[in-house]
Amino acid sequence: MAEHSPLAVAVTPPASRRVGVLGGTFDPVHIGHLRSALEVAEVLALDELRLMPNARPPHRDMPQVSAQDRLAMVERAVQGVAVLSVDARELARDTPSYTIETLELMRAEMAADEQLFLLLGWDAFCGLPGWHRWEELLQHCHILVLQRPDADVEPPDALRNLLAARSVSDPQALVGPAGHIAFVWQTPLAVSATQIRQLLADGKSVRFLVPDAVLAYIEAHGLYRASN
Ligand code: ATP
Repeated sequence: MAEHSPLAVAVTPPASRRVGVLGGTFDPVHIGHLRSALEVAEVLALDELRLMPNARPPHRDMPQVSAQDRLAMVERAVQGVAVLSVDARELARDTPSYTIETLELMRAEMAADEQLFLLLGWDAFCGLPGWHRWEELLQHCHILVLQRPDADVEPPDALRNLLAARSVSDPQALVGPAGHIAFVWQTPLAVSATQIRQLLADGKSVRFLVPDAVLAYIEAHGLYRASN
């Protein structure tokens, strides 16, 4: 009788790790960010989705509260949600947070076969040609474009060739560590940080628009009140 060596047993290699990153000002983080992040993590079966607060966003005004407060709120928001985490690396830098540099740093920490997904709203995606070294982004990650079912899907001319060459129709079929673009269709909750800041400045409640732990932090520190 032939003997089977244990070494001859076929072993299925573990699936490569899948890490997503959602950057934002998070001024403050709210349920729109969190539901969207959780849905993407579940649909794409991510192992981890990192919320990454921006230090000095290159494309917009300065945040209204300190980096420390924005970070504290994001940390409280993800507590107890295993798949969501916080990556504070951009807050530790005193230079503009160029996404390409952040991705290079993340890549250097990851195994070669790990998949990295950069989550971008459609508006941010359309602005890509204005980003620092934007043509190198796909060397380091896949891009997931978060799109609303009712949205206009005409991309700017500068992105047409890229989309034709790199987009795949099914985000779940993205293979390899980087290099492709896929659309994830979501119905976003109609909430924005702008609306939350305005409500607070007007002395109104933002309960149920942010997690209770974030609300408690805002109240304890008197953030976004008109007197700030
Ligand atoms: P602001 O109102 O200050 O512009 P915001 O609410 O849009 O802020 P950001 O921190 O700028 O929040 O957003 C970070 C990311 O989250 C962006 O990619 C943005 O498209 C996405 N996002 C913001 N609001 C929602 C929402 N309600 N649902 C899904 N995604 C959202």
